[in-house]
Amino acid sequence: MNTFSGKIALITGASRGIGRGCAVALAEAGADIAVNYRTREESARETCSLIESLGKRAIPIQADVSMASDVGRMIKTIERELGAVGILVNNAGVAKRQPLDEIREEDWDAIIAVNLKSAFLVTQAVLPGMRARRWGRIINISSGAAQIGGVVGPHYAASKAGVLGLTHAYASLLIKEGITANAVAPSLIETDMVTHDLQVNPTMVPLGRFGTVEEVADVVVTLARNAYITGQTIYVNGGRYMS
Ligand code: NAP
Repeated sequence: MNTFSGKIALITGASRGIGRGCAVALAEAGADIAVNYRTREESARETCSLIESLGKRAIPIQADVSMASDVGRMIKTIERELGAVGILVNNAGVAKRQPLDEIREEDWDAIIAVNLKSAFLVTQAVLPGMRARRWGRIINISSGAAQIGGVVGPHYAASKAGVLGLTHAYASLLIKEGITANAVAPSLIETDMVTHDLQVNPTMVPLGRFGTVEEVADVVVTLARNAYITGQTIYVNGGRYMS
């Protein structure tokens, strides 16, 4: 498939998990890929190898996307080495499960910075290029926690609900400029976040199993293809929350 031939996609947090799945799926659909990561360089290089084996270009790029200075450096490097970003997947996120009475101000600030502020910072940084070319796809990874609260805590749920407001604002402000903005809200996808950190199990999903990163990536590719869907949230959750 060459739907996105000539397009550059940036996926934040693509060293593993859902981000890696999205990076590979967008490469299969023809895009060249910027693979952002925070600390796991080796894993990011593995994602790049998977993409290169599909015949597409890929660069690993370290940046803490909660920091404006890192984001600015990342976008400059991508534009120099690959070209201007047309497809942005704001995926990087953290989920620190904590008992309710132990959540402190610094925990709140850290989660909001990585899960919500980052999506604003990266979107603002790529928007001038999208607007100049009058084409862009912004896809924000939210969570079912935005609706049902979830298992991590109020700071996580609030960050993911914030992502939906951000998505609606960009969708309505950019609708005349060939740029769509949508959210994908997974629940209980089999990644490190779920299997290492959250102590959850498949019986919590009505379907009876965890989701796969490919099932999330499939929706991301559809949203990147479709010019008429904007301002929407697509839930990928085995029936855990019905919208
Ligand atoms: P994961 O396996 O823990 O992977 C997280 C990714 O984000 C890694 O690539 C990590 O980079 C990167 N990252 C974390 N903080 C970052 C930062 N400050 N700057 C840049 N990159 C950063 O998580 P996942 O399960 O794939 O989750 C991906 C997204 O889906 C998150 O936004 C998460 O909240 C959301 N989500 C997941 C589920 C689920 O069931 N898995 C459900 C709902 C929503 P390093 O590898 O370098 O650390």
